[in-house]
Amino acid sequence: MNKTLRKPAIAGNWKMNNTPQQTTALIEELKPLVKDATCDVIVCVPYIDLHAALAATKGSNVMVGAENCHWAESGAFTGEISAAMLKDIGVPYVIVGHSERRQYFGETDLTVRDRTRAALNAGLKVILCVGELKEQRLENITAEVVRMQTKLALKDVLESELDNIIIAYEPVWAIGTGLTATPEQANEVCAIIRDLVAELYGKTAADKMVVQYGGSMNEKNADELLGQPDIDGGLIGGASLVAAKFAAIVAAASK
Ligand code: PEP
Repeated sequence: MNKTLRKPAIAGNWKMNNTPQQTTALIEELKPLVKDATCDVIVCVPYIDLHAALAATKGSNVMVGAENCHWAESGAFTGEISAAMLKDIGVPYVIVGHSERRQYFGETDLTVRDRTRAALNAGLKVILCVGELKEQRLENITAEVVRMQTKLALKDVLESELDNIIIAYEPVWAIGTGLTATPEQANEVCAIIRDLVAELYGKTAADKMVVQYGGSMNEKNADELLGQPDIDGGLIGGASLVAAKFAAIVAAASK
């Protein structure tokens, strides 16, 4: 497997944190720290912070993402935001299927599929999250769970659209818990995802697919995780809220 075919991507998932003013301040602090990155640098922020994030990142190498989008183009979906709306204001990325959406907001593999389709239709790049629960790992069905989630999410995706997808492997038991998958565990599942992409679309597509790891990645463990052959970057929650920590992870991915 040739890792040089892929450009790593480090994405922050701010979750429900930061006001627009705090967004501007954090991005201003981050920009000089990551300006020489050789990986893609993305910050995914709450909807209300998107305008501030787009303004603050203008002219820099930091790209902006939303944390979700709806599957419909428009309509009677009170409180929701469509992919076309995100595209219209200039947002390039969107996270789809984060485990917190699945856990707390009734997200299913089918709505993840539909949101992925809607985002691609609108011309957004998707960070597609998959990952097993602790109970599923203990039952030794991690591979089945992650394969099923990934296969269903990619069901309507054409090979020509894969350049617009990053897959983030995020074991649910490692998110926000301080528990990290070992580099070997994380790499094993990222490789399973890549093998599935090869099954569905062929080896060339799989070799190009960016597969991130997410789950308590921080400035201390990033080097080892990102050094694994099938891990092409990270989706970072807690550590993305501190510019120096996030920048240290970006630096580890830029080696
Ligand atoms: C996440 O929210 O996607 C995540 C990985 O969070 P944390 O880094 O805090 O575990």
